Amino acid sequence: MSTLLQINQVTKYYGNEKVLTKALDGISFKVMKGDFIAIMGASGSGKSTLLNCIATIDNVSGGKIVLAGEEISSKKEHELAKYRRDQLGFIFQDYNLLDTLTVKENIVLPLNLQGVSEEKSANLCRQIATELGIIEHLNKFPSELSGGQRQRVACARALITTPSVILADEPTGALDSTNSKKLMDTLSLMNEKMGATILMVTHDALVGAYAKRVLFLKDGKLWHELYKGDKTLQTMHKEILATMALLGGEGRV
Ligand code: ADP
Repeated sequence: MSTLLQINQVTKYYGNEKVLTKALDGISFKVMKGDFIAIMGASGSGKSTLLNCIATIDNVSGGKIVLAGEEISSKKEHELAKYRRDQLGFIFQDYNLLDTLTVKENIVLPLNLQGVSEEKSANLCRQIATELGIIEHLNKFPSELSGGQRQRVACARALITTPSVILADEPTGALDSTNSKKLMDTLSLMNEKMGATILMVTHDALVGAYAKRVLFLKDGKLWHELYKGDKTLQTMHKEILATMALLGGEGRV
C-alpha cells in the first residue's frame, strides 16, 4: 500500500501567549491508500481540530499535511476549494443533505459542481445507490427517509467523486445502536469493496472497532494506536475500551 496522507509534526494553537491552547501538539502519522482509521480520545483532545486541519477548514500553526504528494497546509484559499471538491468526501453527524433536493440530486451534487455530464452522473449514482442499498429511495426527499437511510445517502454523496480520502466526523452520532451498526457495515463495505480510504472521528468504542487502525489522542498528542489485524469486532471493542480506561476518556459499551 502506498502513503496517501502524511501528517508531519502538525501543531495547532489557539489563543495568545497569555492563554494558549495547544489543540494539536506535534502530531505525526501516515495514512495508507485503503486505510480505515478511527481517531478517538476524550473530549477536547484535538480530534475535530485534526480533522478540520486535514479538511483545510482550519489552518495549521506548524508542520505539514501532504496529500498524494501535495502539501495542502501551504495552499492558498482559492486553491483550497478545488482541493476540497476534488480530493475529499465528507460525512457529517447531521447528514448535511439539502432538504429541497431529492436523494438522487443530493448524491450527484458534487459531480454537478465538477461539471460531469448528466448521463455519467446518473450512471454512477445508480451504481453506488445499488451497492449501498438505497436505489429504491432515489426519487424521495431526505425528509421521507430514516436517519440511517439519510446517512447512507450522505455516504453515497461522499463516494461519488471517488475522493482520495473520506473524512467522517462522528458519522453515527445521531443514530441509534442498530442504525450505527448498519452504517458501520456500509463504511466497511465502502472501504473493503469500493476502495475508499476513510478517516473517522468517533467517541464510540464499538464504532471505532470497525476501523483497521485506531489512533488515540490525548492533549493534542498521538498517545497510542491499535491495529485490528485479524481480531474480531468484539476483541477490538474490548481493547479500545481498555485503552480508553487508561486514557481517562469516555466510552460507550
Ligand atoms: P475534540 O474534538 O477532541 O473534542 P477539539 O479539537 O474540539 O477536541 O479541541 C481541542 C482543544 O482546542 C480544546 O481544548 C478546545 O477547547 C480547543 N479549541 C478548539 N477550537 C477552538 C477555537 N476555535 N478557539 C479556541 N480554542 C479552541
